[in-house]
Amino acid sequence: MDAGAVKRRAKELGADLVGIASAKMLNAFPPDPRWPQTPERISPYCRSVIVIAQRIPVGAFRCKTNTPVQYIDMLVLRRMDKIAYRLAEELEGLGHPSFVTAAQETDWSYKRASYGRLSTRHLGVEAGLGTLGLEVNILSPEFGPRIYLTGILTELELEADQPIREQVCIGESCSRCLHSCPADAVLHFDIDKRACATEAQEFGFSTILKFFDRVVDTLPEARAAMYRSRDVFGFWQGLLRVVGSFGDCPRCLAVCPVGNDYHAHLAELQKVIPEKTPEKVAIAKGFKEARARGDEISGLDAWNIRWVGPDGYKGIVSRQLQEFKKLQQERARLPAAAESAKDS
Ligand code: SF4
Ligand code: SF4
Repeated sequence: MDAGAVKRRAKELGADLVGIASAKMLNAFPPDPRWPQTPERISPYCRSVIVIAQRIPVGAFRCKTNTPVQYIDMLVLRRMDKIAYRLAEELEGLGHPSFVTAAQETDWSYKRASYGRLSTRHLGVEAGLGTLGLEVNILSPEFGPRIYLTGILTELELEADQPIREQVCIGESCSRCLHSCPADAVLHFDIDKRACATEAQEFGFSTILKFFDRVVDTLPEARAAMYRSRDVFGFWQGLLRVVGSFGDCPRCLAVCPVGNDYHAHLAELQKVIPEKTPEKVAIAKGFKEARARGDEISGLDAWNIRWVGPDGYKGIVSRQLQEFKKLQQERARLPAAAESAKDS
């Protein structure tokens, strides 16, 4: 089975995007060399990583609350895992040992934040599926950051895809993710993960720890009321349905203007960002000026630029928008042409 056949099969199984990264490259370029998230730490025999991405249906970002996105995230992850599992199983059937990584796991020994044994966003960049944005989500040209990714580690040597060199993210002059972020977690092609977790993991690990700290400090007679609080309900719901324990805040995904799904269904609705403040605008301006001056910016340094797009922003979003509008005009003309053909 060659790379083309693997990718066709992944698409047949339902993957929205698929690419291949070489294990050798992933081992040579860990996102943070101090904490190497590399295939060789998992298996010394892995030759290639097949990366698949599933889009998050855009309808969930058009709702009044965040709950539909939180619920659908879980369904997307389940579907993605099933597709990846089937592909790994078929590769094994053909004699190539293969397995799926846990896409949302956290390695306890890493950095005291949510870092997995592999970084799926970096896998996606190496497999040519997108580049990292200002908020370091992976932005795919097709669906912007509204995707989940996973990797199938295989001992089969496959021809790897080339990373996209052009920066898919519009960058500092856009900064819509920064404007929308309720936790002020978006940095300069970097993120404050702990600040993000206060919104994205409302009932996550640190909330649980804080809750039990409070329980210990509370008089026994007052504890019963705490056990019946919204917090405990949130923990229960998180265990049962994942909702609340991660992926709770969709704001930076909803407002990112990359992707035809955005042009088609989100542009009008998300045009105004209610969370935008003069302070956030000033931060974005500072980022823009710092980049123009050539200041040292760790998210864009010689190591990290690889995943942001070493050629810089070349207008991919405006090209995409023009194409999209052209297509829409052609579609609008079709019924009119059919009507006039009927009349003649
Ligand atoms: S998920 Fe929410 S809190 Fe986290 S960076 Fe995005 S907008 Fe900010
Ligand atoms: S919202 Fe703008 S700045 Fe943020 S990731 Fe998307 S394109 Fe980049």
